Amino acid sequence: KRKPIMAGNWKMYKNRDEALAFIYQINEKLPSSELVETVVCAPAVYLRDLVKRQGDNLRVGAQNMHYLDEGAYTGEISAGMIKNIGVEYVVLGHSERRAYYNETDETVNLKTKKAIESDIVPIVCVGEELSIRENGTTDKVVGEQVVKAYKDISKEDALKTVIAYEPIWAIGTGKTATPQQANETIVAIRKVVEGLYGKDVADRIRILYGGSVKPENVVELLSTSDIDGALVGGASLKPESFLALAEAA
Ligand code: 13P
Repeated sequence: KRKPIMAGNWKMYKNRDEALAFIYQINEKLPSSELVETVVCAPAVYLRDLVKRQGDNLRVGAQNMHYLDEGAYTGEISAGMIKNIGVEYVVLGHSERRAYYNETDETVNLKTKKAIESDIVPIVCVGEELSIRENGTTDKVVGEQVVKAYKDISKEDALKTVIAYEPIWAIGTGKTATPQQANETIVAIRKVVEGLYGKDVADRIRILYGGSVKPENVVELLSTSDIDGALVGGASLKPESFLALAEAA
């Protein structure tokens, strides 16, 4: 009942030529957007080029944005700017931005609200460090991240968002959470959403898993009860591998 999403996060990889070559290779081969939402979240400098060349079944996303409309913020990009060039999704609160660029639960909340207001789908990232997983407080920590990200966001608006659960210890490490671990935490996240917005929203909101997803493990991850798709780093960089992921979703 929830439409799956396969989202690639290219992070700081690929130049423009490589990005365009990728798009040309996958455009015709992607599964129908009726079956799966396929999204590529690319570096900002060539988002416009990708939007111009995207096929019917591909959507384009940014990897970050500012929460203000405009101002003296050197190096920043606003929601209005990315919306204006045809970008439809944005990754918010990725753990790398939380770790290296002062992203906090508060800024994630402000950005989520701005994305909704700008008619861009936010992919709101949450996830725990290894020490948290080991001391057994994952559900509590991740639950708090969700509550803070959705502060002052209405039920109707919450449904316009996507959540991505990415355990930090599984990102780029080759260590995937087991499908059971990932699904259990996502079930816990859905409970938190239910507490905030009720069962209907909890049943309808899409929650993705991210962390060392690849064609070899994606089917098992997506066959669980509550994982609605994936946010993929490394394995989204090669066209064949990204196509295989999209087809599996
Ligand atoms: P990897 O798929 O490379 O582990 O990265 C996951 C991620 O951070 C996606 O946002």
